[in-house]
Amino acid sequence: ALADSLSRRPRSHAAFERAQQLMPGGVNSPARAFGAVGGTPIFIERAEGAYLYDIDGDRYVDYIGSWGPMILGHRHPAVVAALEAALSRGTSYGAPTEAESELAERIIDAVASIEKVRLVSSGTEATMSAVRLARGFTGRDVIIKFAGNYHGHVDSLLVAAGSSAATLGTPNSPGVTVGTTKDTLVLDYNDVQSLEDAFARHGDKIAGVILEPVVGNMGVVVPSQAFVSALNRLTKSHGALLICDEVMTGFRVAFGGAQQLLGLEPDITTLGKIVGGGLPVGAYGGRAEVMNHILPAGKVFQAGTLSGNPLATAAGNATLKILKEQPPYDRLEHLTARLEAGLHAAAEKAGIIHTIARVGSMVTLFFSGEGITSWQAASRCNTEQFARFFWGMMNRGVYLPCSQYEALFISAAHTEDDIDRTIAASEEVMQEMST
Ligand code: PMP
Repeated sequence: ALADSLSRRPRSHAAFERAQQLMPGGVNSPARAFGAVGGTPIFIERAEGAYLYDIDGDRYVDYIGSWGPMILGHRHPAVVAALEAALSRGTSYGAPTEAESELAERIIDAVASIEKVRLVSSGTEATMSAVRLARGFTGRDVIIKFAGNYHGHVDSLLVAAGSSAATLGTPNSPGVTVGTTKDTLVLDYNDVQSLEDAFARHGDKIAGVILEPVVGNMGVVVPSQAFVSALNRLTKSHGALLICDEVMTGFRVAFGGAQQLLGLEPDITTLGKIVGGGLPVGAYGGRAEVMNHILPAGKVFQAGTLSGNPLATAAGNATLKILKEQPPYDRLEHLTARLEAGLHAAAEKAGIIHTIARVGSMVTLFFSGEGITSWQAASRCNTEQFARFFWGMMNRGVYLPCSQYEALFISAAHTEDDIDRTIAASEEVMQEMST
Protein backbone atom coordinates (compact mmCIF):
# COMPACT_ATOMS: atom_id res chain seq x y z
CA ALA A 1 0.00 0.00 0.00
CA LEU A 2 2.86 2.33 0.86
CA ALA A 3 4.67 1.70 -2.46
CA ASP A 4 1.39 2.23 -4.29
CA SER A 5 0.81 5.49 -2.50
CA LEU A 6 4.43 6.60 -3.06
CA SER A 7 4.21 6.11 -6.80
CA ARG A 8 0.82 7.81 -6.99
CA ARG A 9 1.79 10.84 -4.93
CA PRO A 10 5.56 11.51 -5.04
CA ARG A 11 5.30 15.21 -4.21
CA SER A 12 3.12 14.71 -1.17
CA HIS A 13 5.53 12.02 0.01
CA ALA A 14 8.50 14.36 -0.33
CA ALA A 15 6.60 17.19 1.38
CA PHE A 16 5.68 14.91 4.26
CA GLU A 17 9.31 13.74 4.63
CA ARG A 18 10.36 17.36 4.97
CA ALA A 19 7.50 18.27 7.31
CA GLN A 20 8.37 15.40 9.62
CA GLN A 21 11.84 16.90 10.12
CA LEU A 22 10.28 20.21 11.10
CA MET A 23 7.05 19.53 12.97
CA PRO A 24 6.06 16.75 15.37
CA GLY A 25 4.66 13.99 13.18
CA GLY A 26 4.86 16.37 10.24
CA VAL A 27 1.57 18.12 11.05
CA ASN A 28 0.01 20.82 13.18
CA SER A 29 -2.97 18.72 14.26
CA PRO A 30 -2.66 14.97 14.69
CA ALA A 31 -5.56 13.62 12.59
CA ARG A 32 -3.97 15.11 9.48
CA ALA A 33 -1.09 12.60 9.60
CA PHE A 34 -3.41 9.71 8.56
CA GLY A 35 -2.24 7.66 11.54
CA ALA A 36 -5.49 5.71 11.79
CA VAL A 37 -5.36 4.48 8.19
CA GLY A 38 -1.61 4.15 7.57
CA GLY A 39 0.21 5.78 4.68
CA THR A 40 1.00 9.45 4.25
CA PRO A 41 -1.26 12.47 3.88
CA ILE A 42 -1.80 14.39 0.68
CA PHE A 43 -0.53 17.96 0.76
CA ILE A 44 -3.03 20.53 -0.40
CA GLU A 45 -2.30 23.22 -2.91
CA ARG A 46 -5.71 24.85 -3.10
CA ALA A 47 -9.43 24.31 -2.73
CA GLU A 48 -12.45 25.44 -4.71
CA GLY A 49 -16.11 24.65 -4.11
CA ALA A 50 -16.42 20.95 -3.24
CA TYR A 51 -12.89 20.09 -4.37
CA LEU A 52 -9.39 19.89 -2.98
CA TYR A 53 -6.35 19.96 -5.26
CA ASP A 54 -3.14 18.36 -4.01
CA ILE A 55 0.43 19.19 -4.96
CA ASP A 56 0.63 16.09 -7.17
CA GLY A 57 -2.01 17.62 -9.43
CA ASP A 58 -4.94 15.42 -8.39
CA ARG A 59 -8.46 16.60 -7.60
CA TYR A 60 -10.53 15.16 -4.78
CA VAL A 61 -14.16 15.54 -3.82
CA ASP A 62 -13.78 16.92 -0.30
CA TYR A 63 -15.92 15.29 2.39
CA ILE A 64 -14.01 16.86 5.28
CA GLY A 65 -14.56 20.53 4.60
CA SER A 66 -11.74 21.47 6.99
CA TRP A 67 -13.43 19.19 9.57
CA GLY A 68 -16.69 21.08 9.46
CA PRO A 69 -16.38 24.81 8.79
CA MET A 70 -16.76 24.84 4.99
CA ILE A 71 -20.52 24.33 4.83
CA LEU A 72 -20.72 26.67 1.83
CA GLY A 73 -17.79 24.99 0.09
CA HIS A 74 -14.36 26.48 -0.45
CA ARG A 75 -13.93 30.07 -1.61
CA HIS A 76 -17.61 30.96 -1.66
CA PRO A 77 -17.68 34.28 -3.57
CA ALA A 78 -19.50 36.17 -0.80
CA VAL A 79 -17.00 35.01 1.82
CA VAL A 80 -14.04 35.87 -0.39
CA ALA A 81 -15.50 39.33 -1.05
CA ALA A 82 -16.08 39.96 2.66
CA LEU A 83 -12.51 38.92 3.41
CA GLU A 84 -11.08 41.18 0.72
CA ALA A 85 -13.09 44.13 2.03
CA ALA A 86 -11.93 43.43 5.59
CA LEU A 87 -8.33 43.05 4.49
CA SER A 88 -8.33 46.53 3.02
CA ARG A 89 -9.14 47.94 6.48
CA GLY A 90 -6.40 46.19 8.46
CA THR A 91 -6.02 42.74 9.97
CA SER A 92 -6.16 43.24 13.73
CA TYR A 93 -6.79 46.12 16.14
CA GLY A 94 -7.24 44.63 19.58
CA ALA A 95 -10.13 47.06 20.01
CA PRO A 96 -13.89 46.77 19.51
CA THR A 97 -15.50 46.73 16.07
CA GLU A 98 -19.12 46.83 14.90
CA ALA A 99 -18.53 43.60 12.97
CA GLU A 100 -18.20 41.77 16.29
CA SER A 101 -21.65 42.95 17.36
CA GLU A 102 -22.99 41.87 13.99
CA LEU A 103 -21.61 38.36 14.47
CA ALA A 104 -22.89 38.24 18.05
CA GLU A 105 -26.33 39.32 16.84
CA ARG A 106 -26.36 36.69 14.12
CA ILE A 107 -25.49 33.98 16.65
CA ILE A 108 -28.05 35.18 19.21
CA ASP A 109 -30.69 35.40 16.51
CA ALA A 110 -30.03 31.81 15.37
CA VAL A 111 -29.46 29.88 18.58
CA ALA A 112 -32.51 29.97 20.84
CA SER A 113 -30.70 29.50 24.17
CA ILE A 114 -28.09 32.22 23.58
CA GLU A 115 -28.84 35.72 24.92
CA LYS A 116 -25.24 36.89 25.15
CA VAL A 117 -22.11 35.55 23.51
CA ARG A 118 -18.32 35.90 23.78
CA LEU A 119 -16.13 35.37 20.71
CA VAL A 120 -12.87 33.43 20.97
CA SER A 121 -10.52 31.93 18.38
CA SER A 122 -11.09 28.15 18.51
CA GLY A 123 -13.50 25.48 19.67
CA THR A 124 -11.07 24.45 22.37
CA GLU A 125 -11.06 27.96 23.79
CA ALA A 126 -14.84 27.98 23.75
CA THR A 127 -15.24 24.72 25.69
CA MET A 128 -12.41 25.57 28.08
CA SER A 129 -14.06 28.88 28.86
CA ALA A 130 -17.54 27.35 29.13
CA VAL A 131 -16.30 24.89 31.74
CA ARG A 132 -14.64 27.68 33.72
CA LEU A 133 -17.82 29.73 33.52
CA ALA A 134 -19.98 26.82 34.70
CA ARG A 135 -17.69 26.35 37.69
CA GLY A 136 -17.47 30.08 38.38
CA PHE A 137 -21.23 30.54 38.14
CA THR A 138 -22.21 27.56 40.31
CA GLY A 139 -19.29 27.63 42.74
CA ARG A 140 -19.00 23.85 42.17
CA ASP A 141 -16.17 21.73 40.76
CA VAL A 142 -17.40 18.57 39.04
CA ILE A 143 -17.98 18.39 35.28
CA ILE A 144 -19.67 15.40 33.67
CA LYS A 145 -18.54 14.44 30.18
CA PHE A 146 -19.35 11.43 28.03
CA ALA A 147 -16.98 8.75 26.74
CA GLY A 148 -16.16 9.24 23.09
CA ASN A 149 -17.18 12.90 23.05
CA TYR A 150 -14.39 15.31 22.09
CA HIS A 151 -14.34 18.90 23.29
CA GLY A 152 -10.94 20.05 22.09
CA HIS A 153 -7.67 19.65 23.96
CA VAL A 154 -8.81 21.18 27.24
CA ASP A 155 -6.85 19.39 30.02
CA SER A 156 -9.85 18.67 32.20
CA LEU A 157 -11.80 17.26 29.24
CA LEU A 158 -9.03 15.06 27.78
CA VAL A 159 -10.20 12.11 29.79
CA ALA A 160 -10.13 8.45 28.82
CA ALA A 161 -13.24 6.85 27.48
CA GLY A 162 -14.27 4.87 30.55
CA SER A 163 -15.82 1.57 29.57
CA SER A 164 -17.97 1.14 32.66
CA ALA A 165 -20.88 3.41 33.53
CA ALA A 166 -19.35 5.95 35.86
CA THR A 167 -15.61 6.07 36.36
CA LEU A 168 -13.78 8.94 37.95
CA GLY A 169 -11.62 10.34 35.18
CA THR A 170 -8.04 9.39 34.54
CA PRO A 171 -5.84 11.39 32.17
CA ASN A 172 -5.36 10.00 28.68
CA SER A 173 -2.54 12.22 27.54
CA PRO A 174 0.86 12.45 29.19
CA GLY A 175 1.11 15.95 30.62
CA VAL A 176 -2.49 16.04 31.78
CA THR A 177 -2.26 15.64 35.52
CA VAL A 178 -4.54 13.58 37.72
CA GLY A 179 -5.17 16.83 39.57
CA THR A 180 -6.67 18.60 36.56
CA THR A 181 -8.99 15.69 35.76
CA LYS A 182 -10.05 14.61 39.23
CA ASP A 183 -13.21 16.71 38.97
CA THR A 184 -14.20 15.25 35.61
CA LEU A 185 -16.72 12.43 35.77
CA VAL A 186 -16.91 10.28 32.62
CA LEU A 187 -20.20 8.58 31.81
CA ASP A 188 -21.44 6.59 28.82
CA TYR A 189 -23.37 8.48 26.17
CA ASN A 190 -27.09 7.65 26.07
CA ASP A 191 -26.86 5.96 29.49
CA VAL A 192 -29.75 7.58 31.40
CA GLN A 193 -29.36 5.38 34.46
CA SER A 194 -25.72 6.31 35.11
CA LEU A 195 -26.61 9.98 34.68
CA GLU A 196 -29.39 9.60 37.27
CA ASP A 197 -26.97 7.79 39.59
CA ALA A 198 -24.25 10.42 39.21
CA PHE A 199 -26.69 13.21 40.11
CA ALA A 200 -28.12 11.20 43.00
CA ARG A 201 -24.63 10.67 44.40
CA HIS A 202 -22.80 13.92 43.52
CA GLY A 203 -25.67 16.31 42.67
CA ASP A 204 -24.59 19.18 44.90
CA LYS A 205 -21.02 19.09 43.52
CA ILE A 206 -21.85 19.04 39.82
CA ALA A 207 -21.16 22.37 38.09
CA GLY A 208 -22.20 21.19 34.66
CA VAL A 209 -22.67 18.51 32.06
CA ILE A 210 -20.97 18.93 28.69
CA LEU A 211 -21.92 16.91 25.64
CA GLU A 212 -21.89 16.78 21.88
CA PRO A 213 -25.65 17.00 21.22
CA VAL A 214 -25.12 14.93 18.09
CA VAL A 215 -21.75 13.26 18.39
CA GLY A 216 -19.38 13.64 15.48
CA ASN A 217 -16.19 12.59 17.21
CA MET A 218 -16.85 8.87 17.55
CA GLY A 219 -18.53 8.87 14.19
CA VAL A 220 -22.09 10.16 14.09
CA VAL A 221 -24.00 9.07 17.19
CA VAL A 222 -27.46 10.36 18.00
CA PRO A 223 -28.81 10.87 21.52
CA SER A 224 -32.02 9.12 22.50
CA GLN A 225 -35.02 11.26 23.41
CA ALA A 226 -34.87 9.80 26.94
CA PHE A 227 -31.24 10.91 27.24
CA VAL A 228 -32.10 14.42 26.05
CA SER A 229 -34.98 14.69 28.56
CA ALA A 230 -32.80 13.41 31.40
CA LEU A 231 -30.09 15.95 30.60
CA ASN A 232 -32.60 18.81 30.63
CA ARG A 233 -34.35 17.62 33.78
CA LEU A 234 -31.38 16.57 35.95
CA THR A 235 -29.26 19.66 35.30
CA LYS A 236 -32.22 21.94 36.09
CA SER A 237 -33.33 20.16 39.22
CA HIS A 238 -29.79 20.07 40.66
CA GLY A 239 -28.77 23.61 39.73
CA ALA A 240 -26.07 22.39 37.35
CA LEU A 241 -25.47 23.94 33.93
CA LEU A 242 -26.07 22.06 30.70
CA ILE A 243 -23.32 22.81 28.18
CA CYS A 244 -24.09 21.88 24.58
CA ASP A 245 -20.87 21.64 22.64
CA GLU A 246 -22.12 22.65 19.20
CA VAL A 247 -18.67 23.41 17.80
CA MET A 248 -19.37 20.82 15.11
CA THR A 249 -23.18 20.76 14.99
CA GLY A 250 -23.82 24.51 15.28
CA PHE A 251 -25.22 25.92 12.00
CA ARG A 252 -24.54 22.43 10.57
CA VAL A 253 -27.40 20.07 11.45
CA ALA A 254 -29.83 23.01 11.53
CA PHE A 255 -29.54 26.81 11.53
CA GLY A 256 -30.33 26.76 15.26
CA GLY A 257 -28.02 23.84 15.96
CA ALA A 258 -28.69 20.36 17.30
CA GLN A 259 -30.49 21.87 20.30
CA GLN A 260 -33.20 23.08 17.95
CA LEU A 261 -33.62 19.62 16.41
CA LEU A 262 -33.59 17.73 19.69
CA GLY A 263 -35.21 20.02 22.22
CA LEU A 264 -32.12 20.38 24.38
CA GLU A 265 -32.23 23.37 26.72
CA PRO A 266 -28.61 24.32 27.38
CA ASP A 267 -27.46 27.04 29.73
CA ILE A 268 -24.26 27.46 27.72
CA THR A 269 -23.60 26.62 24.07
CA THR A 270 -20.16 26.41 22.52
CA LEU A 271 -19.62 27.12 18.84
CA GLY A 272 -16.70 27.10 16.40
CA LYS A 273 -15.99 25.90 12.86
CA ILE A 274 -18.90 27.33 10.78
CA VAL A 275 -19.17 30.54 12.84
CA GLY A 276 -15.73 31.44 11.49
CA GLY A 277 -16.49 30.58 7.87
CA GLY A 278 -13.09 28.88 7.57
CA LEU A 279 -11.12 31.31 9.71
CA PRO A 280 -10.27 30.83 13.38
CA VAL A 281 -13.37 31.66 15.44
CA GLY A 282 -15.02 30.04 18.42
CA ALA A 283 -17.82 31.32 20.61
CA TYR A 284 -19.62 30.53 23.81
CA GLY A 285 -22.95 31.95 24.81
CA GLY A 286 -26.00 31.40 26.92
CA ARG A 287 -28.43 33.02 29.31
CA ALA A 288 -27.49 36.63 30.06
CA GLU A 289 -27.57 35.89 33.78
CA VAL A 290 -24.84 33.29 33.28
CA MET A 291 -22.79 35.16 30.67
CA ASN A 292 -22.70 38.29 32.83
CA HIS A 293 -20.33 36.44 35.12
CA ILE A 294 -17.56 36.86 32.53
CA LEU A 295 -15.00 39.65 32.97
CA PRO A 296 -15.41 42.61 32.75
CA ALA A 297 -19.16 42.24 33.44
CA GLY A 298 -18.37 39.68 36.15
CA LYS A 299 -15.36 38.00 37.69
CA VAL A 300 -14.71 34.87 35.61
CA PHE A 301 -11.53 35.59 33.64
CA GLN A 302 -11.28 35.00 29.91
CA ALA A 303 -9.44 37.06 27.27
CA GLY A 304 -7.82 36.85 23.82
CA THR A 305 -5.43 39.01 21.76
CA LEU A 306 -7.03 37.99 18.47
CA SER A 307 -10.58 37.45 19.74
CA GLY A 308 -13.10 39.06 17.37
CA ASN A 309 -10.36 39.39 14.75
CA PRO A 310 -11.59 41.48 11.80
CA LEU A 311 -10.82 38.90 9.09
CA ALA A 312 -12.30 36.02 11.04
CA THR A 313 -15.36 38.05 11.96
CA ALA A 314 -15.89 39.06 8.33
CA ALA A 315 -15.79 35.44 7.13
CA GLY A 316 -18.15 34.41 9.92
CA ASN A 317 -20.63 37.17 9.19
CA ALA A 318 -20.65 36.46 5.47
CA THR A 319 -21.21 32.76 6.09
CA LEU A 320 -24.01 33.15 8.63
CA LYS A 321 -25.71 35.75 6.42
CA ILE A 322 -25.94 33.27 3.55
CA LEU A 323 -27.04 30.45 5.85
CA LYS A 324 -29.88 32.67 7.03
CA GLU A 325 -30.93 34.26 3.74
CA GLN A 326 -30.41 31.31 1.42
CA PRO A 327 -30.59 28.32 3.78
CA PRO A 328 -28.89 25.28 2.20
CA TYR A 329 -30.29 22.83 4.74
CA ASP A 330 -32.98 21.20 2.56
CA ARG A 331 -30.49 20.73 -0.22
CA LEU A 332 -27.87 19.34 2.18
CA GLU A 333 -30.46 16.94 3.58
CA HIS A 334 -31.35 15.76 0.08
CA LEU A 335 -27.75 15.33 -1.06
CA THR A 336 -26.64 13.56 2.08
CA ALA A 337 -29.64 11.23 2.12
CA ARG A 338 -28.71 10.32 -1.45
CA LEU A 339 -25.13 9.55 -0.37
CA GLU A 340 -26.37 7.56 2.62
CA ALA A 341 -28.68 5.45 0.44
CA GLY A 342 -25.94 4.89 -2.15
CA LEU A 343 -23.33 3.80 0.41
CA HIS A 344 -25.85 1.52 2.04
CA ALA A 345 -26.75 -0.12 -1.28
CA ALA A 346 -23.08 -0.52 -2.24
CA ALA A 347 -22.26 -2.22 1.06
CA GLU A 348 -25.34 -4.45 0.87
CA LYS A 349 -24.47 -5.54 -2.63
CA ALA A 350 -20.92 -6.41 -1.61
CA GLY A 351 -22.16 -8.18 1.51
CA ILE A 352 -20.20 -5.89 3.82
CA ILE A 353 -21.46 -5.65 7.38
CA HIS A 354 -22.19 -2.02 8.14
CA THR A 355 -24.46 0.51 9.73
CA ILE A 356 -24.91 4.14 8.73
CA ALA A 357 -25.74 7.04 11.01
CA ARG A 358 -26.72 10.44 9.68
CA VAL A 359 -28.08 13.73 10.91
CA GLY A 360 -28.50 16.30 8.15
CA SER A 361 -25.18 16.72 6.35
CA MET A 362 -23.15 14.70 8.90
CA VAL A 363 -22.85 11.00 8.15
CA THR A 364 -20.72 8.00 9.17
CA LEU A 365 -20.48 4.58 7.57
CA PHE A 366 -19.59 2.26 10.45
CA PHE A 367 -18.03 -1.11 9.67
CA SER A 368 -20.13 -2.78 12.33
CA GLY A 369 -23.46 -4.56 12.36
CA GLU A 370 -24.77 -3.05 15.58
CA GLY A 371 -26.46 0.30 16.13
CA ILE A 372 -23.86 2.72 17.53
CA THR A 373 -25.17 4.52 20.60
CA SER A 374 -22.02 4.82 22.72
CA TRP A 375 -18.25 4.62 22.62
CA GLN A 376 -18.41 0.99 23.78
CA ALA A 377 -20.25 0.04 20.61
CA ALA A 378 -18.21 2.36 18.39
CA SER A 379 -14.96 0.85 19.60
CA ARG A 380 -16.01 -2.56 18.23
CA CYS A 381 -15.99 -1.35 14.59
CA ASN A 382 -13.72 -3.04 12.06
CA THR A 383 -11.14 -0.28 11.60
CA GLU A 384 -9.01 -2.38 9.21
CA GLN A 385 -11.94 -2.52 6.83
CA PHE A 386 -12.35 1.20 7.25
CA ALA A 387 -8.70 1.76 6.25
CA ARG A 388 -9.13 -0.33 3.08
CA PHE A 389 -12.27 1.60 2.23
CA PHE A 390 -10.53 4.92 2.88
CA TRP A 391 -7.58 4.20 0.56
CA GLY A 392 -9.79 2.73 -2.12
CA MET A 393 -11.79 5.95 -2.13
CA MET A 394 -8.66 8.14 -2.04
CA ASN A 395 -7.32 6.38 -5.09
CA ARG A 396 -10.58 7.23 -6.86
CA GLY A 397 -10.45 10.93 -5.98
CA VAL A 398 -12.66 10.95 -2.90
CA TYR A 399 -11.23 12.57 0.24
CA LEU A 400 -12.93 11.12 3.34
CA PRO A 401 -12.12 11.67 7.00
CA CYS A 402 -9.13 9.45 7.73
CA SER A 403 -10.68 7.61 10.68
CA GLN A 404 -13.71 5.47 11.39
CA TYR A 405 -14.44 7.79 14.29
CA GLU A 406 -15.24 10.97 12.38
CA ALA A 407 -18.24 12.36 10.56
CA LEU A 408 -18.05 13.20 6.91
CA PHE A 409 -19.53 16.53 5.87
CA ILE A 410 -21.40 17.59 2.75
CA SER A 411 -21.27 21.22 1.64
CA ALA A 412 -23.66 23.35 -0.37
CA ALA A 413 -21.09 23.26 -3.18
CA HIS A 414 -21.46 19.49 -3.66
CA THR A 415 -23.63 18.44 -6.59
CA GLU A 416 -25.70 15.35 -7.25
CA ASP A 417 -23.06 14.42 -9.77
CA ASP A 418 -20.34 14.56 -7.09
CA ILE A 419 -22.47 12.34 -4.87
CA ASP A 420 -23.21 9.86 -7.65
CA ARG A 421 -19.55 9.58 -8.61
CA THR A 422 -18.72 8.99 -4.97
CA ILE A 423 -21.32 6.23 -4.77
CA ALA A 424 -19.96 4.65 -7.96
CA ALA A 425 -16.45 4.71 -6.46
CA SER A 426 -17.74 3.14 -3.24
CA GLU A 427 -19.34 0.31 -5.25
CA GLU A 428 -15.99 -0.51 -6.84
CA VAL A 429 -14.11 -0.30 -3.55
CA MET A 430 -16.58 -2.45 -1.64
CA GLN A 431 -16.58 -5.07 -4.39
CA GLU A 432 -12.79 -5.16 -4.08
CA MET A 433 -13.03 -5.43 -0.32
CA SER A 434 -15.44 -8.35 -0.47
CA THR A 435 -13.19 -10.48 -2.71
N1 PMP B 1 -15.78 20.46 20.33
C1 PMP B 1 -16.15 19.69 19.31
C2 PMP B 1 -17.48 19.01 19.35
C3 PMP B 1 -15.31 19.50 18.22
O1 PMP B 1 -15.69 18.71 17.19
C4 PMP B 1 -14.05 20.18 18.19
C5 PMP B 1 -13.08 20.03 17.04
N2 PMP B 1 -13.27 19.01 16.18
C6 PMP B 1 -13.71 20.98 19.28
C7 PMP B 1 -14.60 21.11 20.33
C8 PMP B 1 -12.41 21.71 19.33
O2 PMP B 1 -12.38 22.74 18.39
P1 PMP B 1 -10.99 23.31 17.85
O3 PMP B 1 -10.34 22.20 17.09
O4 PMP B 1 -11.38 24.48 17.00
O5 PMP B 1 -10.20 23.72 19.04
